[in-house]
Amino acid sequence: MNPRSLAALIGAAFLTAAPATLRAAGPLNVITTTEDLASIAREVGGDKIKVESLSRGYQDPHFVEAKPSFVIKLNKADLLIAVGRELEIGWLPPLITQSRNAKIQPGAEGYLDASLNAKILEIPTGQITRAMGDVHPSGNPHYWLDPENGKRIGKAVEEKLSQLDRANASSYAQREEDLEKRLSEAEKRWLAMTAPYKGVKVVTYHRSWPNFADRFGLDIIGYVEPKPGIPPSPSHTIDLIQEMKRQNVKIVMVEPYFDLKTPNSIARETGGRVLVMPPSVGGEKEITDYFKLFDYDIKLLVDAIKATGAR
Ligand SMILES: [Zn+2]
Repeated sequence: MNPRSLAALIGAAFLTAAPATLRAAGPLNVITTTEDLASIAREVGGDKIKVESLSRGYQDPHFVEAKPSFVIKLNKADLLIAVGRELEIGWLPPLITQSRNAKIQPGAEGYLDASLNAKILEIPTGQITRAMGDVHPSGNPHYWLDPENGKRIGKAVEEKLSQLDRANASSYAQREEDLEKRLSEAEKRWLAMTAPYKGVKVVTYHRSWPNFADRFGLDIIGYVEPKPGIPPSPSHTIDLIQEMKRQNVKIVMVEPYFDLKTPNSIARETGGRVLVMPPSVGGEKEITDYFKLFDYDIKLLVDAIKATGAR
């Protein structure tokens, strides 16, 4: 066959079989900003996609150190899934620009903001000033810590994968349905574990847990950070200790990437306990997927409530 007729043949094949977006054969190349999103995408995509997260679960997702390898990964991506709500605003936008990949620019078909259908808490009303600290104007971005939002993320991922890869749409739909079912079953179990302690008072380091608290019945009475993103100050710590003593609060939840010095001194003063509680998949070696994240955190919490007699 001469090259010309070969070209014509290939052209004809494209015309008849071309999907909405032309891409190389093989699994879709999906990049996520966090391991939580990677885990959910893996559940929905199965072997039809290849997934990799840029950040690790033991890193503060607000402040991820950008590596040159990230740009290369983004350059080759068919789809980028981000947490959104400005969680990654400190590190992701320049990487997307540098990737020179038109497909994954915000607004393009290969960019998915996973927060779009999620239930978002703490959307500020009124004017936001710098004095309020690192407040997120579009609401709290740690929304994946409610399994109901995990389902909503899964649905958004399914719709996006089906749009990019119509040939496998029924596989994505089936896997998404299965994920929802398994999450509902697991959630029943997690709610049964936490139900006896509904309303238990806790303190957390950063505002990572409003969705988790809402779902599992925790009452967060204060934060180690005086304002989101601002390190602890002596005067705020003294106030917090007094408030914890007044309300008999025994549990201090700390994300693994924060210094334990202040939390430990708070626990000493109040007779409480510090829980290093990972907010993400990969935050501990055994937390290898989105289900194990809740398994781990809820067991840690319930054991601590029992041990301290917290109410
Ligand atoms: Zn935050």
